[in-house]
Parts: sequence; structure tokens; C-alpha cells
Amino acid sequence: MARAGKPTWFVGAVPSWSSLTMSENHTVICAACKLTLTGPENPSPADIFSCPQCQAGDTYEAVMKEVKSYATEQAAKRLQAHMKGIATGNKFTYKPGRIETRNYRFIIDGM
Ligand SMILES: [Zn+2]
Repeated sequence: MARAGKPTWFVGAVPSWSSLTMSENHTVICAACKLTLTGPENPSPADIFSCPQCQAGDTYEAVMKEVKSYATEQAAKRLQAHMKGIATGNKFTYKPGRIETRNYRFIIDGM
């Protein structure tokens, strides 16, 4: 039986480590390997979650902190791109590729 929990980020709400079936939840993945972090099913803030491939990991608390700033940054970038589009009179001026302003170890899948 699988005992490993999968960390997920509930957009706009509190973080959740389960309920992967809910569409609002995004999986927390390793930024380098794009693999879902694994850890205990009902973690406490001090429990370690890590990448199954490169072993990059941190505590539940630290991982959540990191993906929260990642989510905030992504939202800011989207808003910025949107505003830019309005300012120039174009529909949208999204540039392909990501603008990395920080090296995240953990990111959110699909964001
Ligand atoms: Zn990794």
C-alpha cells in the first residue's frame, strides 16, 4: 500500500497535501526533475518532503513557504503581462518562456 503523501498547493487557499483529485489542487514538484515530492501522508510542519530522483527536499513548512512565493510570483507575472498588453493596445503580449527571478527548488505543476 502506498503510504507516501503527495504535496499539493491549493490555489488561493490553504495548502493541502492530499486531495490530488481536486482540480484546484496543483502538485508540488521538484523544479529540476519535474517530479512530485514525496513524504508522509499526514505531515507535521517538520516532516521532510523530497524529490524521488535528486533527493532535493525540505520540511513541509519550508516547502510550502517556497511554493507560496512561487505562486505569488507567477500571479504577479501574469498580472504584469496582462497590464502590458493593455498598455500597448495589443490583446496580450505574453512572451514565450519563463522569466526566472529566483531559483526555486520546488514549484507548482501547471503554473
Ligand atoms: Zn529533483
